[in-house]
Amino acid sequence: MTSEPNTPAHVCINCGKPTAIDIRRDELFGSGKEALIIENIPMLKCLNCGLVYLEPAVSEMIDEICSHPECHASFETKQVAKIA
Ligand SMILES: [Zn+2]
Repeated sequence: MTSEPNTPAHVCINCGKPTAIDIRRDELFGSGKEALIIENIPMLKCLNCGLVYLEPAVSEMIDEICSHPECHASFETKQVAKIA
């Protein structure tokens, strides 16, 4: 195995292997009229154990957005589908 100094991989908090990569994902917080979609959230996904997790700074950012959505979010009309 070669070690590249600029490898984008991170050490996984779960399995400890340097196999976590940066991904971006949209997440829905809350439900109904209070629902808030945060797009493009930076996350880490471990290719070894499959864990997807947030860095503490990102987690704090999401807490802040959810606590004060009026400061961070704008209303957009989206298509919403439900599977009953
Ligand atoms: Zn892992």
